[in-house]
Amino acid sequence: MSLDEFALIERIARRTRARADIVLGIGDDAALLQPASGQQLAVTADTLNAGVHFPAESAPADIGWKALATNLSDLAAMGATPAWCTLSLSLPQAEGDWLDAFADGLFALADASGIAVVGGDTTRGPLSISITAIGQLPAAQALRRDGARVGDDIWISGHPGEAAGALRLWQQGQLDVRVAAADADCERLRQRLQRPMPRLPLGLALRGLAHAAADVSDGLLADLGHIASRSGVAAVVQADALPLSSALCDALGTDVARDCALRGGDDYELCFTAAPERRQALHALSSTLALPLTRIGVIAGGRGVRCEGDAGGERAAGYRHFTA
Ligand code: ADP
Ligand code: MG
Repeated sequence: MSLDEFALIERIARRTRARADIVLGIGDDAALLQPASGQQLAVTADTLNAGVHFPAESAPADIGWKALATNLSDLAAMGATPAWCTLSLSLPQAEGDWLDAFADGLFALADASGIAVVGGDTTRGPLSISITAIGQLPAAQALRRDGARVGDDIWISGHPGEAAGALRLWQQGQLDVRVAAADADCERLRQRLQRPMPRLPLGLALRGLAHAAADVSDGLLADLGHIASRSGVAAVVQADALPLSSALCDALGTDVARDCALRGGDDYELCFTAAPERRQALHALSSTLALPLTRIGVIAGGRGVRCEGDAGGERAAGYRHFTA
């Protein structure tokens, strides 16, 4: 069934949660929002284009989930609590079943994280989803990229590389991204690519614990490179300390797994630095959240990112648009 623009907007508006701090939501020229007093706003935007940021044949529910997840991950990396978002859709056609499935994925994550859709834009064109998300946090408590200090430990959450592993399997024709894989390891990797979990509870808990943080969207070395350059320090990663999952190693072998973990994007884990005195607190946090937190290196004087014990040497490559 084909929808007109207003029927489409109405379907989105029906699905979103209410929040007491929304003075005026979808339907006017702009939304009116009432931030909590004393809170700063964290604002982030991400666009997902079909065929660039997700396989074009992805299930619409997965596309909806991932479009929001990439934005929530940025809020998590700042230590912010999600509040509101806008949703700008470019659609080749306004198809009701597609939109409902897309909304199923998007609102499953939106409702779980407390974020409300307060507006957006709808146009016809190649499939593209652009979300702007706004979170709140107490003044001066944000997890910034420029706070790393010499002597800090470098930590990573979860098992980096799994999303990139799934992408490789898909590119090799060994994984169908649309349906659950029969093999448990492959299915785990597929979920990590199609349904990444933004590390919101971790981001909140790291306020006051971490000195600097970034989410891993472009690759661990690349995103750690941003922390290092913004902080004016060097980052040294120990390749053999990487928490490679057995699912990833079994599916692709240890060498490829390590490459995926260092250079593959799309994991949305948090990479952060903290003083060595925080190790115990971070191990305790890892148990509380049931999320692995692994120390993978140290912050040193100098500049750049170095990976010791990796065949790729000092190559700090990540995913970059507009480069060959
Ligand atoms: P305008 O022409 O003033 O931009 P629109 O017709 O684009 O208004 O949008 C009407 C209302 O619907 C606005 O409140 C807008 O924020 C909202 N809206 C439009 N598209 C979307 C969407 N994809 N998701 C959520 N809200 C939307
Ligand atoms: Mg508009």
